[in-house]
Amino acid sequence: MSDRDYDLFVIGAGSGGVRAARMAAGFGARVAVAEDRYMGGTCVNVGCVPKKLYVYASEYSKAFEDARGFGWDSEIPPFDWETLRENKRVEISRLNAIYQRLLDNSGADVFDGRARIVDAHTVAVGEARYSTDRILIATGGWPHVPDIPGRELAITSNEVFDLDYFPERLAIVGGGYIAVEFAGIFNGLGAQVTQLYRGPLFLRGFDADIRAHAAQEIVKTGVDLRFETNVEAIRHGSGGLLLELSDGSTLEVDAVLYATGRKPNLEGLGLEHVNVALSEFGTIEVDQHYRTSEPSVFALGDVTGGMELTPVALAEGMAFARREFGGQEAEVDYDFIPTAVFSQPNIGTVGFTEEQARAHFGHIRLFKSTFRPMKHTISGRSEQSLMKLIVDKASDRVVGLHMVGPDAGEILQGFAVAMRAGATKAMFDSTIGIHPTAAEELVTMREPWTED
Ligand code: FAD
Ligand code: NDP
Repeated sequence: MSDRDYDLFVIGAGSGGVRAARMAAGFGARVAVAEDRYMGGTCVNVGCVPKKLYVYASEYSKAFEDARGFGWDSEIPPFDWETLRENKRVEISRLNAIYQRLLDNSGADVFDGRARIVDAHTVAVGEARYSTDRILIATGGWPHVPDIPGRELAITSNEVFDLDYFPERLAIVGGGYIAVEFAGIFNGLGAQVTQLYRGPLFLRGFDADIRAHAAQEIVKTGVDLRFETNVEAIRHGSGGLLLELSDGSTLEVDAVLYATGRKPNLEGLGLEHVNVALSEFGTIEVDQHYRTSEPSVFALGDVTGGMELTPVALAEGMAFARREFGGQEAEVDYDFIPTAVFSQPNIGTVGFTEEQARAHFGHIRLFKSTFRPMKHTISGRSEQSLMKLIVDKASDRVVGLHMVGPDAGEILQGFAVAMRAGATKAMFDSTIGIHPTAAEELVTMREPWTED
């Protein structure tokens, strides 16, 4: 044991930091954690958790409508934003307390405040300084709003959950996860939503069929989805905010939500006092064991770029603690990480897109199915689901699975296990379906859409 105050000082009590701190303490390390805003980080406070609660809230309007076809004489009752917001606050406070308790029970010391790196073995929180063998930077990301006139009038995902008014007319700028999810949320809650994306088709990085199908279905839900359109300036108008758009038109709204990506949260961290290299995107560069170019400083989670997802940050935190304090050879395998966009309808994806698979494997077989979910045969809704399998022709292995449709996130979790285990199309075919479900479609697609 060294004569320093701690074996590990973790900066940031988010998904990655808390997991690393708890596990390291479990291995007997003397651990400190500093957190300057909220226990549990982005996911718990302004990310996955409140987002999913708001998705649930927004789905009720559709459920009330769909119920009519099933004999329920239902009108959509009025929605109360304050009730949702306050109930969400109570739930998040409960989770904050759980995170605090988990850290306390692990034996880690928790400091409330913004931490600064003083040198490679010293961290300051307020006036106090602590010496440590290792420093772990797990400070996550922060919403990025481009530098346009009036940017100070925009809100981000940090503010949107706790607005003190309900924006009846909402513009959302961006075409990534957050923009698409919040378009669904506020549309479902009854706002008039305009989503503006600068390129020809949103959700860059996802499979092309999924992007096109999602756009088609989201438009059906009533979102005014405009591609090739950006905001050039924001100013106060007579009845709200006036957005000057790149096509020369203007749009008046009550609020404009910027969901234009996140940047690493490194402000005031004191990186200038250590030799930590940054990438061209400003993220911290690390090797496969989360080591930075400064031997005593490590980093993981969103602050390092990569896939900005909570389960990824958790896995990295565990691998780091196991390796540094548990004496184990732990490494995260980044292949076949499943992910879902909680848009309406959901998008779920795991593995290669068609384009990537063709480039990587050369010859592939594609299976595609578009169908109306059974529920909507009676609800009358015109929503269509899309499922797509991509198979490496040489090995018969299923290397891509993509879906737009209800519960895509739930459905794909299990399929991701099969794909990581190397399941072939023949194994999919020999698996008996669960009837009647949408998921059975994934094991009953027989005729290739195309093959090359
Ligand atoms: P964070 O969770 O961001 O934690 C970093 C912590 O460090 C913060 O609490 C911050 O206050 C603290 N901090 C920063 N600097 C300092 C400092 N100098 N001193 C002390 N403390 C500091 N992922 C999913 O997997 N599924 C989802 O559905 C999902 N939905 C999301 C929805 C939204 C709106 C957003 C914004 C993100 C969502 N994510 C989702 C992404 C997920 O939240 C992140 O990938 C995850 O939180 C990253 O964890 P982290 O530990 O790297 O950082
Ligand atoms: P994303 O990187 O997913 O999307 C950012 C979007 O903003 C892109 O469409 C991008 O366009 C656009 N954009 C970037 N800069 C500008 C600009 N200057 N003007 C106009 N548009 C711009 O970021 P998000 O903010 O949506 O989310 C951050 C991350 O959080 C996600 O990548 C994801 O990893 C994570 N997350 C995960 C969720 C989940 O698991 N369900 C939910 C929410 C977030 P272009 O494509 O053209 O560059």
